[in-house]
Parts: sequence; C-alpha cells; structure tokens
Amino acid sequence: MHALTVLPGVANSARLDEVPEPPPEQGALLVRALALGVCGTDREIIAGEYGAAPPGEERLILGHESFGEVEEAPRGSGFKPGDRVVGIVRRPDPVPCPACASGNWDMCRNGRYTERGIKELHGFGAERFRLEPDFAIRVDPALGALGILLEPASIVAKAWDHIERIGRRSPSWLPRKVLVTGTGPIGLLAAMMGMQRRLEVHVLDRHKSGPKSALIADLGAKHHAIPVGELADLAPDIVIECTGSWQVVRDVLGLTAPDGIVCLTSVTAPGHKAEIDIGGLNRKMVLGNEAVFGTVNANRGHYQMAAEALIRADSKWLSRLITRRVPLANWQDALDHRPGDIKSVIDFTL
Ligand SMILES: [Zn+2]
Ligand SMILES: [Zn+2]
Repeated sequence: MHALTVLPGVANSARLDEVPEPPPEQGALLVRALALGVCGTDREIIAGEYGAAPPGEERLILGHESFGEVEEAPRGSGFKPGDRVVGIVRRPDPVPCPACASGNWDMCRNGRYTERGIKELHGFGAERFRLEPDFAIRVDPALGALGILLEPASIVAKAWDHIERIGRRSPSWLPRKVLVTGTGPIGLLAAMMGMQRRLEVHVLDRHKSGPKSALIADLGAKHHAIPVGELADLAPDIVIECTGSWQVVRDVLGLTAPDGIVCLTSVTAPGHKAEIDIGGLNRKMVLGNEAVFGTVNANRGHYQMAAEALIRADSKWLSRLITRRVPLANWQDALDHRPGDIKSVIDFTL
C-alpha cells in the first residue's frame, strides 16, 4: 500500500512510499484512510527538525490528523465495519507516569510518551492503518468529511477545558470577553468554541479582508487587524494565543482583566529575546490574580468534547476551514503553505 514516509532528522526526505500492510500488533481495528490533515508539526518533521521513527526502523509514516472508515473490527471491540473513526495521537509512556497511568497522557510528566506520525509510532498517512479500540474515537456520520477537523479541535477543546478549570479557582468567575490571537485552524476553532460559550469573541488577524475575516464575521465575532499592543483597553477575561509569533506572545502577557487567564497554544522557536518590564508585569499579574499557562495535545475526554463541539457547529462554516483537498499523489501540494490557507487535507478518496 502507499504511505507518506519521512526520514526523521533529514530535511526534505519525505516521499510517497510502498510499505507493508499494518501488522495486527498496531491495533485490532483496521481502518481505511479517508483523509489526512496536515499542519505545522508535519512541516517541521519534513524539514528534519522534529520527529522520530519507530525503534529499529529508519523511516516514519507521517501524519497525525486522521479520518477513516473501519474495515475490520473484532467482536466486542465496540466498533464495526463502516464506522467512521479518528485515531488518538498520543500513547502513554511505558513507565507510566502518574498522568499517563490515569489516562491523562496529554499531561505526561516524563516525556517518554509516543505519538502516531510524530514520535516513535507510525502515523496515519497510509492507505490503511490500525488502531487500538481504546485509542479510536467514533465520528458521528452527520459530520461527514468534517471528521478530519476532530484532531485539531481536540487541542482546542483541551485549551478551553483547562481555561475553565483554572477559572473555577474563583467560584464567582464569570468571563465575558475572550481574545483569540491568530486565525489558523486552532485560532478559528478557539473562536468558534468561544461563541458556543456565549462569550464576546474578539479575533486578532493582521489581514483586514479576505476569507479569514469573512469567517470571523460569519461567526459573529469581532475582527481586529491592529497590533495586539493597541488592544490594551479591551481587557479580555481570556486570551488564547494561537499565532506562533513570539512578539504576539510577549504582547499578550498581562493583557487580561483582573482574574484573567492567558492560554498559550503555539510552539515557537527558541532564541527570541524580548525586553519586557518584568517588574510591571509581575506586579499586574499578582495584583490581578492573573494566570498564564501553556497547553498541548489532548486526552480521550478532549476528543469527545471536540466531537460534541463540531456537531453543534455550523457545518457550512466548518467546511470553509478546509481550504485545500488534494489526492495522495499530490501530497506535496498539501504541505506547501500558501497565503489564505487554513487547513490543507490529503483526500484518499480523490
Ligand atoms: Zn496537527
Ligand atoms: Zn507519562
């Protein structure tokens, strides 16, 4: 069968390969791939900056944003042929640490977790892949091809879950305004989930017009195309930072109202030193009971929260997040990042 593979650590080594069928040890469910979403993590792996092949193997099958149809499922697995599924990306570390031992592998304490298509486990970028039933999420047929958004939505569902957990430190915390910086898939889904919470949603994106500003408007959110430093009067209760820009990260610190929460979701490159008034920032954060936290990955509960959020959302709006669908043979087109792109998808049915 065909699969998209890469030699981790070697730039531009990705290729469409002929690989063996996935062995049953990889999971009792045999899944036929319908689509594979690509994101910055895949581009980093292809650039040779990230990723690891399974022990004893040279190449890694790429891809962690899956969507497929079950072809074989053993009796008692809870799945049947024809079910639409998405694979959970992370697997608990072998120790396991207390977080992984309790199903909270997204909070792994020792970093020895593995990840499909990223770290030591083959990914979902193959015509067929296998899943353990405990790491498969059934997708409501009503979502159709939008099931491909479940993995990125799980990241956002976790961000919101943790914002609300931190918020509950004060029983009287009733947030009203959220500022989302960035309009990639994570930022737009974060804004959508903010609207679902009936919050006043503000979205920062440098482009004044275009498909992203239409998406923001159609959501009912307010678009700001100004530097984030000029939003000092907005006083949001929540900031969700999704730009990947270290300057924006710097500028959202201390931007919230008292009891505010800043949630950081983007993985920036190290090596950017910024001058900040740490005395002033610390003073404001202490006197305002403000919290800043980072979030990554998602556990099973977050995939379920994401599935519920996607079902409740406007499917026409969601489908506009997928700006390019290409057949597997044209996988390179999906990995190119072009202006206006939101989510590119390799469509195995084309
Ligand atoms: Zn991704
Ligand atoms: Zn762990």
